[in-house]
Amino acid sequence: MPSASTLQTVTQLSYLVAAALFILGLKRMSSPVTAVSGVRWAGAGMLLATLVTLAFIMGASPLNLALVIGAIAAGGILAWVSGKRVAMTNMPQMIALYNGMGGGAAAAIAAVELYRGSEHSITHLTIATIGGFIGSVSFSGSLIAFAKLQGLITKSVRFGGQKFLNLAILLVTVALGFVVVSGMDFGSSLGGLPAVSLFFAFAFLLGVAMTLPIGGADMPVVISLYNALTGLAVGFEGFVLDNAAMIIAGTVVGAAGTLLTQLMAKAMNRSLGNVLFSNFGESSAAGGGSVTGIQKAIEASDAGVMMAYSQKIIIVPGYGLAVAQAQHKVWELTQLLIDHGVKVRFAIHPVAGRMPGHMNVLLAEAGVPYDLISDLDEINAEFETADVALIIGANDVVNPDARANRASPIFGMPILNADKAKNVIVIKRGQGQGFSGIDNALFVLDQTRMLYGDAQAALSQLIQAVKAAG
Ligand code: NDP
Repeated sequence: MPSASTLQTVTQLSYLVAAALFILGLKRMSSPVTAVSGVRWAGAGMLLATLVTLAFIMGASPLNLALVIGAIAAGGILAWVSGKRVAMTNMPQMIALYNGMGGGAAAAIAAVELYRGSEHSITHLTIATIGGFIGSVSFSGSLIAFAKLQGLITKSVRFGGQKFLNLAILLVTVALGFVVVSGMDFGSSLGGLPAVSLFFAFAFLLGVAMTLPIGGADMPVVISLYNALTGLAVGFEGFVLDNAAMIIAGTVVGAAGTLLTQLMAKAMNRSLGNVLFSNFGESSAAGGGSVTGIQKAIEASDAGVMMAYSQKIIIVPGYGLAVAQAQHKVWELTQLLIDHGVKVRFAIHPVAGRMPGHMNVLLAEAGVPYDLISDLDEINAEFETADVALIIGANDVVNPDARANRASPIFGMPILNADKAKNVIVIKRGQGQGFSGIDNALFVLDQTRMLYGDAQAALSQLIQAVKAAG
């Protein structure tokens, strides 16, 4: 039997290896070519950290051990089944849910430490309290974000004085945090509730109150923010438990989440303050989103001829392509067009679809080579030289109002300049709006034609039409 100090050293070393695997995994996730192996590396790190922790607590009471193993088994099975089943389009709410669980777990660790209270130093209690606060806000906020994306909460709750109420909740939570750290207890004067319970109740309330007013179109940024907060909370609790793997993993998640939040906010041309405290994305009723003009339909046969005789086509995939699972069809069409001598490129907007990288994942799944895919900055200048911009189930990301109409709720959001192409063909089922709930000025332009139908069916028709064109 190894001595306690040897076990401790082996455990810490294993945590360091696990943390290195997390970092290397994250690095590999930055390119689509290595992303899958990156997920495996990070997964291996997590497995190592879990096994080492299990080995370390082997001496614990049988009941505690059974509880730990039971929790790992239940969580593992649930995550495996839900991960296998979830549709790609529902991934954002899944991430919100997992994120919330991370924040909740950090808050639970803090709760255990804080309920023990006087056993610990002030520094220890302060770190646990800060981590508990951040984890609780992230937990309840993420659950509200999940409910919104899942359509369980359809309205954003707003009322006069809301910001002041939220500020008041924040101040009460912070005050309770001070009470907890200083070791005071006013349990008897407050119906027997200890300060720790009240502290957590208010922190949870803050997460709910902060997230309820935020509009649907801002949810991706909010989820990313909570992701960063969860990482931070885990990092704090890592200090509390003196656990190197938690400190490093939490810091990495916190930093990655912060960067992603900034990138997404930039892609939507929003500041974080604007996302959290303004009323973006509610509906076109907010004004500035309505478009006058008539959409002009085109038959697939005519669109096919136009495309077969083009020199350059830029394809813009969006959320509708993902819903229709039309990624294989679009690649079939692309290959056909390339065989016809047409130069084809894909233009990807950073927030196309419903999660960062959504379109890249779909196109990679269909086998589209990476060198045909360009992001917004690379391709925007090329639309002017394109004979056709083929928009497949995309809407908000090609709305020229974002560039030209100051009254539009999405004014300032960088968009793909599809309206600059000589011809625009839009595949969508009807006159449905995009995620932000506003009309699209692109659809009524002179050079735009609408090919109505489900993306998969419309692309099949286009393939036949291009073949028929010779
Ligand atoms: P949009 O959500 O703006 O529009 C999608 C369009 O697809 C709809 O107008 C719909 O029109 C059409 N559509 C739906 N189903 C089908 C189908 N089966 N076949 C063909 N068309 C279909 O998509 P975009 O990708 O342009 O924009 C993404 C939006 O989502 C942005 O507002 C972004 O901010 C937001 N968002 C992005 C996230 C991210 O991280 N990427 C996460 C969450 C939100 P119709 O009903 O007429 O068919």
